[in-house]
Amino acid sequence: TLSDRLADTFKNLRGKGRLSEADIDATAREIRIALLEADVALPVVREFVAAVKDRARGEEVSGALNPAQQIVKIVNEELVGILGGETRRLRFAKTGPTVIMLAGLQGAGKTTLAAKLALWLKEQGRSPMLVAADLQRPNAVNQLQVNGQRAGVTVFAPEPGNGVGDPVGVARDAMAEARRTLHDVVIVDTAGRLGVDAELMQQAADIRDVVQPDEVLFVVDAMIGQDAVTTAQAFLEGVGFDGVVLTKLDGDARGGAALSIRSVTGRPVMFASSGEKLTDFDVFHPDRMASRILDMGDMLTLIEQAEKTFDSDQALKAAQKLSGQGGAEFTLDDFLEQMQQVRKLGSMSKIMGMLPGMGQFREQLENFDEREIDRIQAIIQSMTPAERANPKMIDGSRRARIAKGSGRAVMDVNQLVDRFFEARKMMQQMARGGGMPGMPGMPG
Ligand code: GDP
Ligand code: MG
Repeated sequence: TLSDRLADTFKNLRGKGRLSEADIDATAREIRIALLEADVALPVVREFVAAVKDRARGEEVSGALNPAQQIVKIVNEELVGILGGETRRLRFAKTGPTVIMLAGLQGAGKTTLAAKLALWLKEQGRSPMLVAADLQRPNAVNQLQVNGQRAGVTVFAPEPGNGVGDPVGVARDAMAEARRTLHDVVIVDTAGRLGVDAELMQQAADIRDVVQPDEVLFVVDAMIGQDAVTTAQAFLEGVGFDGVVLTKLDGDARGGAALSIRSVTGRPVMFASSGEKLTDFDVFHPDRMASRILDMGDMLTLIEQAEKTFDSDQALKAAQKLSGQGGAEFTLDDFLEQMQQVRKLGSMSKIMGMLPGMGQFREQLENFDEREIDRIQAIIQSMTPAERANPKMIDGSRRARIAKGSGRAVMDVNQLVDRFFEARKMMQQMARGGGMPGMPGMPG
């Protein structure tokens, strides 16, 4: 992955004031390769790498991050930025039905998407109507009808033998029907060809002129790779579009097409389709796509997890709990939860050293015995809720019962209870040290 490669590039570099030009060039090379492997179009790669280089030149090497981490952070921020920051939402018409028209090559996933989008909108309380304006392929109308039925939405299609070959007429009739039957969203499925084709483009443009769409969505297969740019440009010129839907993300495409299309057309990717089921559909998440493109997922997930685990909110809450009743509110359940959080980190200890500020915990976490947590969990789960909430009540006979229930020795239970009280004392001291004056001492 890019993260690994950059870590290799910077093996011998730590604590310099600024990245050298040679370091930046080496970095740029790795990013270029990674982007090309993700199928990002070459001109887009060039532009992107230049932007990252510029930023890398301007930034001090931070104390908290090693150079590889710092570059990954820049790359990620640039990627997310280009991919659109936050997801753009559909624009709904103020009056009359909102018209969404789908365009794209044959096999891109338009018909499937039409039904997915309809179901998604229906679940939001809208009343969508699907329009079969693909009369090119013999089975296209039927396919939309089947999909629409599965989604439980109305499909407007030409009568068999009627309107064949006149998708523009069908689109016109559909609009009248939607107004009459008070559908508030109309989704127009159109025909595609295997390659870009002037006649097809004209037909799509004619349909567009008739239905006056609020949104034209360009539907594109994520596997399209390097062809993404030419295809997207052709549709932008021929029909025009407002947003992009990336399909077949369940495949192994890395999604470079998202970056290419966004960069070249300036149109945001709005939705993502990831399977043949109607529910395999979601709004587009630029951050997820960024890590998919450059395979930064592990590092970014790790950062997120660690941030969650060390969430200062949580520390504050724990401190407040302690200060509230002199620490008596910190229960065995809280204790178990803490242990489990440590486990979450422990199992990721291998990549721990990659994280800013985490290096110091690495050794501790690597030496952490995961089975120990299982044992602790078994013992705590053998306690009654009352015992967990008020561990002071766990006397000798209760300890014997808990030991039996968890298959451990009484000594293990004793040890655990001791550890718990120690932890509680520590938490209490921490809370006090954290500037919470007037906190009463722990009773008993
Ligand atoms: P259209 O020609 O643009 O209307 O494309 P279709 O909707 O007919 O889809 C073409 C093929 O791709 C069909 O077999 C679909 O089942 C399949 N398909 C569509 N979207 C997805 C997707 O997100 N993932 C996968 N795996 N297959 C898809
Ligand atoms: Mg179709």
